[in-house]
Amino acid sequence: MNYETVIGLEVHAELATRSKMFCDCAVVDSVSAGPNEAICPVCAGMPGVLPVINAQAVEFGMRVALALECEIAPTSIFARKNYFYPDLPKGYQISQFEYPLAEHGRLVIRTSQGERVIRIRRVHLEEDAGKLTHITKDGVSYSLVDLNRAGVPLLEIVSEPDMRTLEEAKAYAQALRAIVRSLRVNSGDMEKGVIRFEANVSVRPMGSEVLGTRVEIKNLNSFRALERSSAYQVEQQIATLEAGGKVVQETLGWDDTRGETYSQRSKEEAHDYRYFPDPDLPPLVIEPEWVERVRVSLPELPRAKTLRLEQQYGLNRADAEALASDYAQADFFEKAVAEAAVAEADGISPRVIANWMTGELFGWLNQSGKSIEQLPITPASFAELVQAAQGEINQPTAKAVLGEMLSTGKTAGNIIRERGLQQVSDSDLIAGLVRGVLAANVQALKNYLAGKETLANWFFGQVMRAAKGQANPQVLHAELDRQLAEARARGAE
Ligand code: ADP
Ligand code: MG
Ligand code: ZN
Repeated sequence: MNYETVIGLEVHAELATRSKMFCDCAVVDSVSAGPNEAICPVCAGMPGVLPVINAQAVEFGMRVALALECEIAPTSIFARKNYFYPDLPKGYQISQFEYPLAEHGRLVIRTSQGERVIRIRRVHLEEDAGKLTHITKDGVSYSLVDLNRAGVPLLEIVSEPDMRTLEEAKAYAQALRAIVRSLRVNSGDMEKGVIRFEANVSVRPMGSEVLGTRVEIKNLNSFRALERSSAYQVEQQIATLEAGGKVVQETLGWDDTRGETYSQRSKEEAHDYRYFPDPDLPPLVIEPEWVERVRVSLPELPRAKTLRLEQQYGLNRADAEALASDYAQADFFEKAVAEAAVAEADGISPRVIANWMTGELFGWLNQSGKSIEQLPITPASFAELVQAAQGEINQPTAKAVLGEMLSTGKTAGNIIRERGLQQVSDSDLIAGLVRGVLAANVQALKNYLAGKETLANWFFGQVMRAAKGQANPQVLHAELDRQLAEARARGAE
């Protein structure tokens, strides 16, 4: 039997507000504050304290909800979700349940199969829990509790079960990350756990309209983990069904090292949490004027950016999409184009700059694991290099220069001048080098004339070497062809 995969994603994004969701403690990371340095009686769960809703968090949540084309609820309610865990000092998490901040949105994703619309079920506000560190030392095991993260605003974005392939699930997760980044509400830094994914995965016989029983895989913090864990579950579930068994609805963890999911608990139901409206918080009322103010303040989103880059700069779809997938990359590109246009009257083609970015620069980012914000070079310096690669230096040299720029932060101009890398285009000079190489390799020339045509490439390489790699390849080619033809004519006489 053929099976269809069904995936729905729950995404938790911390909101990069100045202070926490319900108190004025600063939102910090482990570098800027030691354990439990950013806490107060409210986020530490002391009795008798009163939470206050953070307006900036609400506005950040609205930005995301509007970017996802959701309807913002005029009134939403904060509820207590009761459970015990050492990282949750109050014994309940404040979240939104029956009346979320926003509902009924959509996100258009793009895969190798084209565009698809994934419906967004709801977007709601809640608070993050603290962090536990489990330690074993001298044979004793214990856990440390750090409440700095307790009370940090979290936005949960829940999709409908609309994804049908692993590629779609990954594209959705990536598109969502790009959106929260472009809205400046979340850095998208997955290593720091500021955005985390939960995959709900089920399978069903191809053509069936009813959903199969699903499992929920918690706390996935990379696209790779999302893809691998979902693939693992799809395989497991199909095997179970094929063997005549039934999929058990449960909550799973993902062991990245072993490449396996493991059972955490059987599926909990909403009533297990005894949700009820938090009596300490008023209903969150959002006036239409506020919604409109936020709506008009939204920046250009990745999909619109792709179309604009395509049209404004004549880029192909793939390059436009690659650049627009991250606002900081697109900004870098547009600044480099502006610099190049300033530096030269007619400017170099934006397409050439896009090629150098998506090829060489992205390659370097991938390899080094760095983000565009960590680039040691400016758009102006990058533009200068691409400009130089149009004639002043040849392509292999330009790539080497870029490598040096990226590792040292030096400008292209400095490296080229310091190392005397300017491309040699002087045809007399190159003619002399060709003559020298042919004269020094009489036997090879004879073999060439006797029919071993591939030796032309070898001669080319020898001349380039004599020119320390700096000869203009077109000039070299023309001159070598000319001299080889002469030699042939002489031989025929
Ligand atoms: P809960 O809040 O208990 O986790 P929900 O019914 O609200 O459950 O669904 C949570 C997520 O699971 C949503 O993203 C939804 O799209 C997805 N989902 C629900 N049923 C299925 C299913 N059968 N297969 C895959 N995903 C599902
Ligand atoms: Mg869930
Ligand atoms: Zn606090």
